Amino acid sequence: MTYFEDFAKVCSAIEHISGSLEITTNVSNFLKEVSDEELPIVTRFIMGHVFPVWSNKELGLGPNLLYSAISRTSSLPVKRIEELIKETGDVGLALEKAILCGKTHLSLFSESEQLSIKEVYLRFERISELSGKGSQDAKIKNLQYLFSQAKPTEIVYLSRLAIEEMRIGVGEGIVRNAIAEAFGVPSELVERGILLTNDSGLVAITAKKEGKEGLIKLGVMINRPLRMMLAQIGAGINETIKEMGHVAVEWKYDGARVQIHKNENDITIYSRKLEDVTSSLPDLVKSIRTNVLTNCVILDGEAVAIGKNNRPKPFQEILRRFRRKYDVSTTAIEIPLCLNLFDILYLNGDSLIDIPLIKRREKLEKVCDKSVVAKQIITDDPAVVESIYNEALAAGHEGVMLKNPGSPYSPGKRGKNWLKLKPIMETLDLVVIGGEWGEGRRTKFIGSYLLACRDPDTEKFLPIGRVATGITDEQLEDLTKLFKDLIILENGIHVDIEPKIVFEVAFEEIQKSPNYGSGYALRFPRLVNVRTDKSKEDADSIERIEQLYIRQKGR
Ligand code: AMP
Repeated sequence: MTYFEDFAKVCSAIEHISGSLEITTNVSNFLKEVSDEELPIVTRFIMGHVFPVWSNKELGLGPNLLYSAISRTSSLPVKRIEELIKETGDVGLALEKAILCGKTHLSLFSESEQLSIKEVYLRFERISELSGKGSQDAKIKNLQYLFSQAKPTEIVYLSRLAIEEMRIGVGEGIVRNAIAEAFGVPSELVERGILLTNDSGLVAITAKKEGKEGLIKLGVMINRPLRMMLAQIGAGINETIKEMGHVAVEWKYDGARVQIHKNENDITIYSRKLEDVTSSLPDLVKSIRTNVLTNCVILDGEAVAIGKNNRPKPFQEILRRFRRKYDVSTTAIEIPLCLNLFDILYLNGDSLIDIPLIKRREKLEKVCDKSVVAKQIITDDPAVVESIYNEALAAGHEGVMLKNPGSPYSPGKRGKNWLKLKPIMETLDLVVIGGEWGEGRRTKFIGSYLLACRDPDTEKFLPIGRVATGITDEQLEDLTKLFKDLIILENGIHVDIEPKIVFEVAFEEIQKSPNYGSGYALRFPRLVNVRTDKSKEDADSIERIEQLYIRQKGR
């Protein structure tokens, strides 16, 4: 049995190291030390995940609940805790301080009640099961229990885990290499396992117990969503045909991505973030029951909200459907969705991801009614592609996808086998990390938002600019509500926001700038969409910004 204190010590050590190789070795050593039962938990905890990404368990603990729990444990008022957060600039450190200065600290830390890693996990699991009336208070009590058992160093990481934000620079890349190093298996196989199962804990325990052979056996599993294959921006129709030869052309539908798992009568729909959204989408479930004519299958596609004249409704309307928990059937009538399936990844016991698209397509057409299958044409004629492109735009969709007919399905990869062609300027998906309260009639609202891109090496978010344009008054109110619970720190009009929400932002140009941590700034940024379907890990990386900057200079 390993104590949570040991985990906290490893995190604390890592926090003081800057080289990723050394961090990897520290993580790897710890993975080797813990028991089989603890290994999956630790593999997730170290990245700030309490549950596997695919699981529909959620902690639902925002900063406010966390502060209340610490306030009750330390007997300090919430206001004082917020001040401590301002002073230290970090939730974990502030909460550690609060416990140390609070009244209760003398009665804490009895040796016999030391927290184990498993106990922390089980307590978090219990928190995730609480819902409905009185659940907020019960969640606070459970957190309070954990805090009252913990030593100050443990408090730092318990509180960061509670908001699933470890801030120690350990992301999937480091965990992948650490698993490989700890159990002597190739890191490519570890990566493949993670992309297929979305469960770094399962991959770690498989690597430990079954080694390379076990990892090879890890495959596509029903009811375990795999990462979606992604698209790159295509250079143009002629260039793409020159490169691919024949291309499979499909409309790029203006909708939201869905991955469907059908296991006999059991249907589960996952969103792009791989969250289970089945209960919000009864009309899609019904359509799948009618139109998917096989027992056990995983399908990939786009759900579109169809409005007047068969044109797609705005993206925000679709997301309203995906987020809906109550009045689901009324909203389903208001915003009906239809399916456009474009891929099949698994069929009756067989993984299909390694066979070419053209073969997958044959199977897709065989098991689904054509009313739910996206049209596809294979051609090497640029004029044909252009006419499909114009047709898609005229129908209100985004453009076309050009796919390599001979390519496998690569989970989680933004490779060259799927290229998107769209007329509008590319947008960036950036994470909101801060903001400013407005002025004049906008004082009650957060009027501008500080945006950041992702640094995949350090797993940190690098600021790249602010956006205040493109936000309607109505949206301003909704956004303020959305962000209020994510405020970590307030200083005058400035707020620090927990990185969680992704904004899709349009801009005129990317410029070099010493004013922001990324080294770049956006000229005339404008909010296009709040991408609640994307998670912070989906935000654009600093590499993409650099690529766009170089490409723009070459124009
Ligand atoms: P983007 O979000 O701009 O990177 O574009 C990729 C997204 O386009 C995918 O994640 C899908 O949600 C969407 N999409 C729409 N139509 C298709 C299609 N025919 N094939 C693949 N993706 C599509």
